[in-house]
Amino acid sequence: MNLMPFAEARERTLARVSPLAETETIPVVSALGRVLAEPVVAPFNVPNHDNTSMDGYAVRYEDLAASGDTALTVVADLPAGDRLTQTIGAGEAVRIMTGAPIPDGCDCIVIQEVVQRDGSQLTVPQGQKQAQNIRRAGQDIATHSDVFSRGRRLSPPDIGMLTSLGLSDITVHRRLKVAVVSTGNEVITPGTPLEPGQVYDSNRSSMKAVLQALGVDILDLGIIRDEKEAIAAALRRGAAEADVVLTSGGVSVGDFDLVTDVISELGSIDFWKVRMKPGKPQAHGRIGNAIFFGLPGNPVSVLATFLLLVRPAMLVMMGCPPEPQKQLTIQFRGAPINKTGDRMEFARGILHYEGADAWIESTGSQNSGILTSMSKANALIVLPDDPIVVNEGDTVTVIPIEY
Ligand code: AMP
Ligand code: MG
Repeated sequence: MNLMPFAEARERTLARVSPLAETETIPVVSALGRVLAEPVVAPFNVPNHDNTSMDGYAVRYEDLAASGDTALTVVADLPAGDRLTQTIGAGEAVRIMTGAPIPDGCDCIVIQEVVQRDGSQLTVPQGQKQAQNIRRAGQDIATHSDVFSRGRRLSPPDIGMLTSLGLSDITVHRRLKVAVVSTGNEVITPGTPLEPGQVYDSNRSSMKAVLQALGVDILDLGIIRDEKEAIAAALRRGAAEADVVLTSGGVSVGDFDLVTDVISELGSIDFWKVRMKPGKPQAHGRIGNAIFFGLPGNPVSVLATFLLLVRPAMLVMMGCPPEPQKQLTIQFRGAPINKTGDRMEFARGILHYEGADAWIESTGSQNSGILTSMSKANALIVLPDDPIVVNEGDTVTVIPIEY
C-alpha cells in the first residue's frame, strides 16, 4: 500500500489552506487568542514620559557632593498621576512616588530608604549615580516602532500592551468555524448505559476541547451512523455552514468505513494514508469551499493527528504565519521503547524538568486506543520510519504538546 511520508503530509496540509480573508474590529479586551489582521505601530512612547521606578526624591545630580552628605530642600510633593509645572533649581529636591514624571531639572532619583528627612530638610548620602531609578520615555515601546506584525495570535500580555498603547479596538481575522462530526454505529453519548460493543463518544468531546483551546467557533453535528446518506447529509451541512469539516472514524478500510467514499462523491480527496503511527488512515480533502479533515476513529489517533496536522493548518487559516514544527532533542530515560514497523511513530512521552536536568520517558503502552497515554503525555517522541530500540541515555527528538 502506498503511504505518504509524514513530512509530505504536513507540507501538503499546510499548502492546501490559506488565511480567512474576512476581518472584524473588536474590543481589545475580547481579543485574547484572536489573530491580528493588521500590524500595530506604536502611536506614542510607552512609557509616555520619563518617570521614576522607585519611591524617593528627585534631585539634580550636579548638586550632590562627590564625597560626604548633601543637604537639600524639599520644595514639592509629587504622587503618581500628578505633574509639576515648576523647574527645580539648585539645592532643591522633590518628594516623588513610583510612576510620577521626573520633574524638569532633575536627573536622579534617590530612594527613600537611604535619605534622612527633617521637615523640608533632606540629607542625601554620597554614592548616587546620575539617571539612577529613571524609566525613560519609550523604554518599553518607542513611538512609530512595530509592536506586532499581522498574524500575531494575541496572548494575555499582548492584550495589556495594546491597551497601554491606548487602543480600545483592534482588527482581527474573523473566527474560523469548524463543524465536528463523530461517526460509528457503536458510538453513543454519555447518559445511556453502554450496551456490549458500544463506546462513549470521547472523540467529539476531545475534538471540541482542542478547538475551544484554539478559539474557533464550533458547529457540533453530533454522532452519525455508518450510513452513506446520513454521512453525506452531515458533511454537506458542515461544508455549507463551516470553513472546516472535521470527522472522526470511518476512514479505514473496513466495510463500514464510508467517510472516504462519501468525500470522493461530494468533493475531492487529496490524500488519505500517511506513514505515521498513530494515524495511518486519514482523509484530507475538500467539500465545496470547506477544507475536510477525516481523522481516524481511535481516540489517541484523533488527538495526535489533530496536533500534528490539523492544528497547524487551522492556525494558518486563522491568519497565523506557517511555522516549522517545534521540536527539541533530549535524553530518553526509563523503560526502553522497542519500535517495530515501517511508519514514523509519535510515541506519547512525559517531559521532566528538574533544575538544569531535563529528560523524557515513555507513558507506557502505546496502543492507539489507550487515551490515558495521551492524557499523561506532554510531548510526542518522534521515532523514525525504520525499526529502532530506544534505550535509557539515548537522545531522542520530541515535539512538546501544545493545545
Ligand atoms: P474506525 O476508524 O471508525 O474503525 O474506529 C476505530 C476505533 O475507534 C474503533 O474501536 C471505534 O470504536 C473507536 N471510535 C470511533 N469513533 C469513536 C468516538 N467518537 N469515540 C471513541 N471511540 C471511537
Ligand atoms: Mg467506525
